[in-house]
Amino acid sequence: MKPAPTTSAPAFDYVIVGGGLQGCLLAHALAWHRPEAAVLMLEQAAELCGNHTWSFHETDVAPQARGWFDPLVAHRWPGYRVRFPALSRRVRIPYATITSDRLREATLSLAGERAGSARAGRLVIRTGESCEILSPTTVRLGETAEISCLAVIDCRGRAAAAGLPGGAGYQTFIGHEYATARRWPASEPTVMDVRADQAAGFEFLYELPLGPDRVLLEYTRFHDEPDCDPSRAAALISTRLAEVGAGSAALIRTEQGCLPMPYAAEPRREGPSLAGGYAGGWYHAATGYSMPLAVRFAELVARARPDQVAVEVAAAAAEDRLRRGFSRFLNRLLFCLVRPENRWKIFQRFYRVLPEARISRFYAHRFTFTDAARIIIGRPPAGLAPIRFARSFISLPGPVPT
Ligand SMILES: Cc1cc2nc3c(=O)[nH]c(=O)nc-3n(C[C@H](O)[C@H](O)[C@H](O)COP(=O)(O)OP(=O)(O)OC[C@H]3O[C@@H](n4cnc5c(N)ncnc54)[C@H](O)[C@@H]3O)c2cc1C
Repeated sequence: MKPAPTTSAPAFDYVIVGGGLQGCLLAHALAWHRPEAAVLMLEQAAELCGNHTWSFHETDVAPQARGWFDPLVAHRWPGYRVRFPALSRRVRIPYATITSDRLREATLSLAGERAGSARAGRLVIRTGESCEILSPTTVRLGETAEISCLAVIDCRGRAAAAGLPGGAGYQTFIGHEYATARRWPASEPTVMDVRADQAAGFEFLYELPLGPDRVLLEYTRFHDEPDCDPSRAAALISTRLAEVGAGSAALIRTEQGCLPMPYAAEPRREGPSLAGGYAGGWYHAATGYSMPLAVRFAELVARARPDQVAVEVAAAAAEDRLRRGFSRFLNRLLFCLVRPENRWKIFQRFYRVLPEARISRFYAHRFTFTDAARIIIGRPPAGLAPIRFARSFISLPGPVPT
C-alpha cells in the first residue's frame, strides 16, 4: 500500500518548475525584486540550463530589468551584420548572448551553492527530480511529498507547451563552437549569411565571434519538417572555416535543436498553474527568440504581489494578443503562402526596408501597428496571390494563454 501523501504548510513563496531559460531568469528577477521570498526551483535534468547559446538584441530588455539581467550576459557586440544575395547590411543594434554555463553558474551562486541541492539563502535548487503540478499552489515531488506555496510557476518549456493544432514550420539549428589557431577575422556577429542556393528552403549560417580565437558557427534552416541536416550543416560550416583560413580549428562544443514556428491561432492553455517561457507562450513565434518575452514575464511575476501574479500576467498577455497573432501570421506567410525557394526574400526585404528602430521593436515584441504594416506592405514575394494573403491575415489572431 502506498503511504498517504504528506502535506506541509507553505514552506516557499514560489515554486519554479523547470530550470531552463525562463526558470533561471525568474529566479534572478525574484532575488532582485523580492529578496525576502523563499523560492524552490525543481529541475528534472541532472543540471540546470541545458546546452544553449541564447542571443538577443540588447533593446529586447527593458531598462528596469537591467539590474538583475546584466550580470548574466556573457558576450556583447555593438552591432551585427546580415548578408543576402542582394544585400549586405550592418545593423547598429547592440547584440548579446547568455550562455548556459554563465546562467547556470549565476543561478547556483544565487542559491549559495556551486553544485548540488542543499538549501542556502532564499533560493533552493533541486536537480534530477521531476515533479507534477497539482494546482496553482501545490506540486508533488516523487510519490508522496506535496509541497505547497503561494504560487507555482510552470517553466517546463516545450514539454508543457500547448499543442500546435493547425500546424507549424520549424527552425532547426546545428551549431559548432571552435577554438581557432588564428584570430577570427570578424569581430561582430553575422546573424544571417544567406548564400545564393536556397532551393531547399530558407537556410543560412549564423556566426558568433565569442572571442578573438573563438567562434560559434550555426547552420539554421526554416523547414516544413523538424529534421536537421547534419551533412548540409557540416558542408556550410567547413566552407566558412576554409574561407577564412581556419580549416584546422578545433571543435570544442556542439549544440543542436529544433523550434516549432507555429502559424495556427494560439491555443488556449489548460495547465493547472501559471506558465512562463515556452510552456506559457512567452516566446516570439516569428523569430524563435525567447529572451524578450522570457525577461518580460520574469519582471511581471517578480514585481507583482504573489496573489496578483496570475491577474497581471493575463493582462499583459492580453495586451500582447495582436502582436502574438501577427507573429503567427508571419509564420503562415513564410511556411504556407510563399514557395520554399522564395522564403529568404521575405527576410532580405525585412532588412532592406526597415530602419533600426523598427527592427528592434519587432525583435523585442513591442512592434506597433505601423511597424507591422511596414513589414508586410509592399510588392508580394513571387507566387503569392493577394487574395490568399488577405484571407490568411483576417483569420488571426486567436486566444492568448490563460
Ligand atoms: C538550438 C536552439 C537555439 C536557440 N537560440 C536562441 C537564441 O539565440 N535566443 C533566444 O532567445 N532563444 C533561442 N532559442 C529558443 C530558446 O532556447 C527556447 O525557446 C528557451 O530555452 C525556452 O525557455 P524555457 O525556459 O521555456 O524552456 P527550456 O529552456 O527548455 O527549459 C525547460 C526546463 O524544464 C525542465 N523540465 C521539463 N519538465 C519538467 C518537470 N516535469 N519537472 C522539472 N523540470 C522539468 C527541462 O528539463 C528544462 O530544463 C533557441 C532554441 C534552440 C533549440
